[in-house]
Amino acid sequence: MTEMPKETKHLDEMTLLLYIERQLDRARGLEVSAHTQECDACRTLLRVLESESRLLTRAMLEEDEPLPSRLAQFQERARTGNPCSGFGE
Ligand SMILES: [Zn+2]
Repeated sequence: MTEMPKETKHLDEMTLLLYIERQLDRARGLEVSAHTQECDACRTLLRVLESESRLLTRAMLEEDEPLPSRLAQFQERARTGNPCSGFGE
């Protein structure tokens, strides 16, 4: 048996993002899915990107929702002793 030098090419973020958005062609998509099933690092990255893209989509869909940064500002304000401002608008 001749052993092929195993050149494991990890997936880059762009490929994974395209995969999440289903923008890859079928063959490439299958490669990505096979790789992420065997590679912990890429599977983890895929999960991170998936949750990020979900957050982004939600942020775009629900513009009225307070963003985490706004929440942080609010908590900051509450802590600096002015808890009423910003409440019950
Ligand atoms: Zn990998």
